[in-house]
Amino acid sequence: MSTAPQLSVVMPIYNEQEALPLTVERLRPILDGLGIDYEVVGVDDGSTDATPVLMQKIRQDWPEFRIIRFARNSGHQAALKAGLDRAFGDYVVSIDADLQDPPEKIPEMLSLAREQNLDIVYGVRGDRGTDSFFKRRTAGAYYWLMRKLVGKRMPSQAGDYRLLSRAAVDAIKALPEHQPVYRLLVPWLGFPSGEVVYVREERVAGATHYPLAKMVRLALDSVTNFSAAPLRLATWLGLLSFAVCLLLAVYTTISFALGSTVPGWSSLFIGMLFIGAVQLICVGLLGEYTGRIYSAVQARPAYFVGYDSAEEERRDNS
Ligand code: UDP
Ligand code: MG
Repeated sequence: MSTAPQLSVVMPIYNEQEALPLTVERLRPILDGLGIDYEVVGVDDGSTDATPVLMQKIRQDWPEFRIIRFARNSGHQAALKAGLDRAFGDYVVSIDADLQDPPEKIPEMLSLAREQNLDIVYGVRGDRGTDSFFKRRTAGAYYWLMRKLVGKRMPSQAGDYRLLSRAAVDAIKALPEHQPVYRLLVPWLGFPSGEVVYVREERVAGATHYPLAKMVRLALDSVTNFSAAPLRLATWLGLLSFAVCLLLAVYTTISFALGSTVPGWSSLFIGMLFIGAVQLICVGLLGEYTGRIYSAVQARPAYFVGYDSAEEERRDNS
């Protein structure tokens, strides 16, 4: 295989022993049918089931299937980062390993990018009918909030199924982000882009690796990566409390002058609780940002690669 294939397909894979064989079965004929040089970059995100063995087996009769193995589980976005960092292709498509993103759309993405000279082609979810009600609702809220923060450049319902040109990949690689959230970074690039609509299918086998905690984390990372607006919340709440206090002061002064002092210790107590809560929220928000500054300063890598079949190949050839 030449060192610069025309297409790289980056696939984060974590404990996908049930889904992976089915994915490969559907993906391979499509890529072979393109009639171009390609590589599939399977990023094994520290799987603990039979996935690593399976990937080696797949590689044995599919030399275009390249394996990158992490030393430990580092998360979906980190796996994507490793794939983008190390892919060789002129175009790079990122796709999930559970067939929720139909691989049949890859040729469409590629020809759209080539015909119209686009750097980004988003896979936009036309229908989420197969996702659970909860997933649809939380995803809806997420995209609504992100569009408010990042702006309308972000297509709603565009996940991590997309095509990037070499120029876009290199631009992203040049950013000093340690915890990149690609679905926000890519629209932020603002390169010429197009969309391909697809139907989000049901996960072919196995279970989701995105429980609520990881979803909340992704949302928090997204917000703090892209906006300082929450920090301003403290200022606005402070101003609001100040205004309320002023009104209360006027009110109590007048009632004192009229001779009717209010007994209400409860209002005092509620006021104290309110201010305490507001302060804690604001400190918490500060903590979110400080935490990120802290980890940015530490500049720890997002992942550790234990093995890359392309490196092994290079060593063998030299
Ligand atoms: N994944 C990963 N590392 C993780 C969790 C998930 O590489 O820690 C991969 C997973 O194998 C799949 C993709 O990321 O290819 C999306 O994960 P999943 O299908 O569990 O998420 P969902 O589609 O439910 O949002
Ligand atoms: Mg999935």
